[in-house]
Amino acid sequence: MSETVDYVVVGAGSAGCVLANRLSENGKYSVCLLEAGPADKNIWIHIPIGYGKTMFNPKLNWGFHTDPDPHMLNRKIYWPRGKTLGGCSSINGLIYVRGQKQDYDRWGELGNKGWSWEECLPYFRKLENNDLGPGPTRGTEGPLHATSIKTRHELVEAFIESAVNNGVPRVTDLNTGDQEGAGYYQLTTHHGKRCSTAVAYLNPARSRANLRIETEAQATRIVMQGNRAVGVEYKQGGKLKTLRAAREVVLSAGALQSPQLLQLSGIGPAALLRQFGIAVVKDMQGVGENLQDHLQHRLIYEVSKPITNNDQLRTVWGKAKMGMQWLFLRGGPLAIGINQGAIFCRALPQESATPDIQFHFGTLSADLAGGQVHDFSGCTYSVCQLRPESRGYVRIKSTDPFEAPSMQPNYLSTDLDRRTAVAGVKFARKIAQTEPMRSLMTREFRPGQDVRTDDEILHFCREFGATIFHPTGTARMGQATDPYAVVDERLRVHGIDGLRVVDASVMPTLVSGNTNVPIIMVAERASEFILSDAESIAAETLRTSPSRLAA
Ligand SMILES: Cc1cc2nc3c(=O)[nH]c(=O)nc-3n(C[C@H](O)[C@H](O)[C@H](O)COP(=O)(O)OP(=O)(O)OC[C@H]3O[C@@H](n4cnc5c(N)ncnc54)[C@H](O)[C@@H]3O)c2cc1C
Repeated sequence: MSETVDYVVVGAGSAGCVLANRLSENGKYSVCLLEAGPADKNIWIHIPIGYGKTMFNPKLNWGFHTDPDPHMLNRKIYWPRGKTLGGCSSINGLIYVRGQKQDYDRWGELGNKGWSWEECLPYFRKLENNDLGPGPTRGTEGPLHATSIKTRHELVEAFIESAVNNGVPRVTDLNTGDQEGAGYYQLTTHHGKRCSTAVAYLNPARSRANLRIETEAQATRIVMQGNRAVGVEYKQGGKLKTLRAAREVVLSAGALQSPQLLQLSGIGPAALLRQFGIAVVKDMQGVGENLQDHLQHRLIYEVSKPITNNDQLRTVWGKAKMGMQWLFLRGGPLAIGINQGAIFCRALPQESATPDIQFHFGTLSADLAGGQVHDFSGCTYSVCQLRPESRGYVRIKSTDPFEAPSMQPNYLSTDLDRRTAVAGVKFARKIAQTEPMRSLMTREFRPGQDVRTDDEILHFCREFGATIFHPTGTARMGQATDPYAVVDERLRVHGIDGLRVVDASVMPTLVSGNTNVPIIMVAERASEFILSDAESIAAETLRTSPSRLAA
């Protein structure tokens, strides 16, 4: 039996929760949000430092691996993705960053009308409740809390000071559009708890009669009627069900699974679809291509004083103290998350007019992000290139929607990316060797003093480089004349009616920073496109056949 709603949104992640709220807000339209994962009840989702606990939990995390990457010593790299209400915003590192003004201006220059920084800024302001207070670039009325880190950890202070001593200016607000500087990140937390999009957008909308939320409901394909998307087939509780969309289907399953669903539904590169016997609805070369991600290089140092989270987490008393601080005061290290210190600067100043690398500095260390902490006092300098040139792809491996697609990032496959990686690691070392940081560092644990030449540093990057979790671009926005564009500037799939993609997939180029807030901005904009298109259709119907509208 199939049921009908106005809008079916697939995926309750950063984007999907925004859409569910905004599309159901005026009460005129019925909306169903389908999420493959369970409700966001696990306590570790809501404790900011719980990141380590959700990183490898298969109930809340898809736990993907890339294909062997030929540029990374054929390693299969772990790619966590959120699988619960809130999606990745329920398991992410909480960093609140918009990127640079030039990122969005570039989207506009690529032919995407309406996406310049000036045009995106009102939506960045709309979505946030920023504790730095109102300002020309800041908002204080939005659902998503941007909270400043109030504590001043000796190590983070030293990290920022050492950056300043290397010519990077100290800044308080990293989100004005010009992010060059060193300072503290703001976090998507509120009263010491995670502020995911499920918390910020979905919870206030849950009781609306016109919003239905289905969890543990995995979409298996888009139902097509000719060139029109008319519904979604999904599996829930072992049963295959169909939900019809009277107006639109919106894919918000993220940059890995939205292209997978398109391909499974016959929208994608014809040769790939034919390989699996899928009838081609629309041959679109760009579906799954143009994959971009930030690759992080994590330098680990041993610290001369027992002031790191490693020290607190090593003893029962330390853990108990942290637990009590959070339980009774919603404070302490558990309320802050993993990374506190930020630097945006230029590793290759001759070649880049704006910051080309970003640092995440954490007062703890582990072999893997989110893994077991080391048994020494340690800290981590993670450095990543902001605008990589390397491009990969996402391609189905079979017609089974429950089989993960092939994911190939092709990290470090261009000369610029390799040179930026090496320069980034060298700059991290420079910070560690500058006072006041220098006096606090006992030894470089990784890569270690044996790694000296550029070739050795590059080898270290290939051997230990890891995702910083920002896959994007696999259904990129662009004009119909661009053979690799999948959606137009209103995020409608080219040549298909009733279908949009609204998530990380649509970014034409990766923004210079973390991706959660940019995607929320994209979803805020998309909600307006969808609602205003619905109004235009109603106005047109009223003009051409008033009796149809009245009926
Ligand atoms: C470990 C980690 C740390 C990160 N740290 C940060 C950070 O500190 N700051 C930051 O800005 N960004 C961070 N990011 C990145 C950021 O959170 C993501 O880029 C962003 O949340 C992606 O949003 P999205 O809407 O595109 O997809 P997602 O949030 O991934 O949402 C997709 C949703 O769709 C669901 N889904 C998938 N397939 C189906 C299907 N077939 N049927 C139904 N549902 C489906 C998924 O379960 C998921 O809930 C991090 C990401 C990770 C994984």
